[in-house]
Amino acid sequence: MTRKHQDPEYRKNARIIRAQVTKARRSGTEVCCWRCGYPIDSEQTFDVGHIDPEGGPAINNLAPEHRYKSGRCQGNRAAGGRLGAARQQQRTIASSGLLQW
Ligand SMILES: [Zn+2]
Repeated sequence: MTRKHQDPEYRKNARIIRAQVTKARRSGTEVCCWRCGYPIDSEQTFDVGHIDPEGGPAINNLAPEHRYKSGRCQGNRAAGGRLGAARQQQRTIASSGLLQW
């Protein structure tokens, strides 16, 4: 947990993202990791990560991602502190039924 995760705006917005994920899952919509683009299985733990590590806690810079490294994804905890950014990803619910960030 770094300082940016204690920021009140981050905490508020992370809560909103988590609620969106919960709601999507409840309705049978798969939730995708912004980092690798693959679905996060409901039994996998996820984090609310920063798309741009320097981009601040605004909600449009936050998205769910795999917490741990897996076959396809380096995961949030492995990427911690590394600067690598996929920017400007649009949040859309695709017709494929995926909640895509
Ligand atoms: Zn991932």
